[in-house]
Amino acid sequence: MELLKQRILKDGQVLGNDILKVDSFLNHQMDVQLFNEMGKEFFRLFAHKNVTKILTIESSGIGIACIAAQYFNVPVVFAKKTEAKNLDSDTYLAEVFSFTKGKTYSVRVSQKYINPNDIVLIIDDFLANGKAALGLADIVGQAGAQVAGIGIAIEKGFQDGGKLLREKGLEVQSLAIVQSMQNGKISFSE
Ligand code: 5GP
Repeated sequence: MELLKQRILKDGQVLGNDILKVDSFLNHQMDVQLFNEMGKEFFRLFAHKNVTKILTIESSGIGIACIAAQYFNVPVVFAKKTEAKNLDSDTYLAEVFSFTKGKTYSVRVSQKYINPNDIVLIIDDFLANGKAALGLADIVGQAGAQVAGIGIAIEKGFQDGGKLLREKGLEVQSLAIVQSMQNGKISFSE
């Protein structure tokens, strides 16, 4: 998606060799007009899948998922990273290794909000090693529901997540695929 690629080139910052900081428009301050264009694009890519629900993970995926959901006209469920007293006791649980935090954490979704006849589109801001998306796909499987596909804003093509998920037969559509970030210079794959 050209608009997103141009924005990454304009405002993205490369940290080290493998972290892209986009918090001026994607995951801290959020450019809602850009999200709106991203939402339309996700809808164009997945409209034929009869999606009944969008699943994301807190917190960075929520904004993107909510804007996209307005096009699909379906609810958004987000996986919670903390165990809270007000979360139902009947939850689906997956373990996710965080690439940015370097530790494993549990994510939980109440069993009430995904059921066997759901067709679930997974949405997230980044795809690195694929652990977050795999955890969410696992939760969809635990519910006996179907994964419609995985919609990602920014895939880092030089990390293994995209390959891993596609090899599992999951449809991954990324709006921008960063091919390399060598010496702070960002380039995209087509
Ligand atoms: P994965 O589970 O695919 O290894 O990593 C994806 C998750 O890690 C995303 O939910 C995202 O929040 C975070 N992440 C991975 N790489 C980056 C990055 O380069 N920049 C930012 N801002 N977040 C990232």
